[in-house]
Amino acid sequence: MRLLLVEDDPMIGESVRAGLQQDGFALDWVQDGRAAELALQTNQYDLLLLDLGLPRKGGLDVLAALRRRGDAIAVLILTARDAVTDRVKGLDTGADDYLVKPFDLEELAARIRALLRRQSGRADPVIKIGNLSINPATHEVSLDAEPVALSAREFALIHALAARPGVVLSRAQLEEKLYGWGHEVESNTVEVYIHSLRRKLGADAIQNVRGVGYVMPKPS
Ligand code: CA
Repeated sequence: MRLLLVEDDPMIGESVRAGLQQDGFALDWVQDGRAAELALQTNQYDLLLLDLGLPRKGGLDVLAALRRRGDAIAVLILTARDAVTDRVKGLDTGADDYLVKPFDLEELAARIRALLRRQSGRADPVIKIGNLSINPATHEVSLDAEPVALSAREFALIHALAARPGVVLSRAQLEEKLYGWGHEVESNTVEVYIHSLRRKLGADAIQNVRGVGYVMPKPS
């Protein structure tokens, strides 16, 4: 899953980036409101982490513009302001959740997982597709109740596909879910991971839609 972090405090930004990358998220980080708008218009993100007090354009203005143009991305506000009115205003402007700084990175990751699962229409924290189950919190994967060991990238890829079974994701979209900015992506990386996932999870777990991309079929 690929996230955009908008945060002008370098210490908070660095710790959030390190923590979430450790958790297997691809994360891009910008430090002002205008850079956030540019990033949102040029990349596809699964979730936005948005500070409110930002240079060049405030977080509330970024959020309002986002919702005005019909963007439904999940938004979690990160704010040092502990005034109730700011939080209410953020939620009423279209945010889905908020955290008041200083916050715990584990709580941030848990809130992100909750928003992502609601966004994909699930309430169960464990994704179950046929005989496969995927736990985004623990990164545990099992097939027919037997644990399957996956690398961090393999997990990120199967998680992206399993979050929306039946939806085809192109190679470029999958690369976006795996890598943030500044990562050199080998041209056949996605194919290599898909090959390895099929070996571990069964050849039918992921289908190739020729010329379009990859999909996890919905169980019938
Ligand atoms: Ca700030």
